[in-house]
Amino acid sequence: MSIWANAPAVPSLPTDGVLDAVVVGGGPAGWTAAIYLARAKASPVVLAGGAVGGQLMDTGIVENFPGFPQGIDGPELMGRMREQAENAGARVFTREATALRLVPDAGGVHEIDTAEGTLRTRSVVFATGSSPRRLDVPGEAELGGGNGVAYCAVCEAPLFAGKDVAVVGGGDSAMEEVLAVSKHARRVHLVHRRDTFRCAPVLLERVRTRPNVQVHTDAVVTSIHADDSGRLATARIETRNGGTCDLSVQGLFVAIGHTPRTELAAKAGTALSLTPTDHLHLTGSGGVTAVPGVFAAGDVADDLFRQAITAAGAGCAAALACQRYLEEHPA
Ligand code: NAP
Repeated sequence: MSIWANAPAVPSLPTDGVLDAVVVGGGPAGWTAAIYLARAKASPVVLAGGAVGGQLMDTGIVENFPGFPQGIDGPELMGRMREQAENAGARVFTREATALRLVPDAGGVHEIDTAEGTLRTRSVVFATGSSPRRLDVPGEAELGGGNGVAYCAVCEAPLFAGKDVAVVGGGDSAMEEVLAVSKHARRVHLVHRRDTFRCAPVLLERVRTRPNVQVHTDAVVTSIHADDSGRLATARIETRNGGTCDLSVQGLFVAIGHTPRTELAAKAGTALSLTPTDHLHLTGSGGVTAVPGVFAAGDVADDLFRQAITAAGAGCAAALACQRYLEEHPA
């Protein structure tokens, strides 16, 4: 059952009048910004998207968010942050922003479209996060959506009890995927394109001690194949020395990083620009962008740290900068 199942019915979107602040995104950055803005009496409206909670909804135990010495489930952490934001006075809507019209002048009123109408607001905090990167190899698209190729082993690991699976990647996410799925699967192949790993050493150590994990380095997945029923059957890997082999697997988890969700900003037709890594370009501390009154926080603007705690910290900083902007440009 969804953790939001018992949430009270939400009122309709406040499309009349001009709001002080809208937070777009419902992950750690968005919730933290909402908490701070609500406490600053900026009456924030949060457009938390359809999949409220961001990437932490796909995460198992989070062991590195301070304050939880035994760790805390990602979805539970997100649920608590949302509750805290609502208790502080934020109005939360499980709606997507579909388009933006940002005005380049300080003190201007920005517009945010949703399927249910347009919000008008003096300030915006962008906290839209990022989405999983694809391998872009033949077979990947066809075998997604429940046919064997997936992007979150932590969510789907029990479905692979007794089966053979592969995990692709060499970062923290890939290690977490391996650790999660190796509790259920018969065998896990970890496929990484280099012979050194960028993940935390402690995670790699844990992976290497799992008896059912086989590590393939200097290896890339070049194609993915189905059986007659249309389900994943093999993943072809090629090694740097030219070798090829077909791994017989029923599941393949792609954990090769994430792409920042900047689509909205990119088509907003304003001075908002992207960095060479396609993150939102910040022009100052506190998530300040080139558009007055528009701030960005979390993975959408961070290509370096991308942690729940850094996203939360960035959400706080953006909210404080936003609060200052609202004071300097009163309605
Ligand atoms: P990441 O650190 O960017 O790692 C992505 C991995 O995928 C890298 O090993 C990369 O290889 C590989 N890769 C990228 N494109 C590929 C391709 N086309 N084909 C094959 N392999 C490819 O991403 P992440 O693991 O999702 O982590 C993102 C951030 O979140 C990091 O800062 C990480 O520390 C953090 N995180 C933390 C935790 C935790 O603390 N518990 C958990 C999850 C994520 P190369 O190494 O060769 O570039």
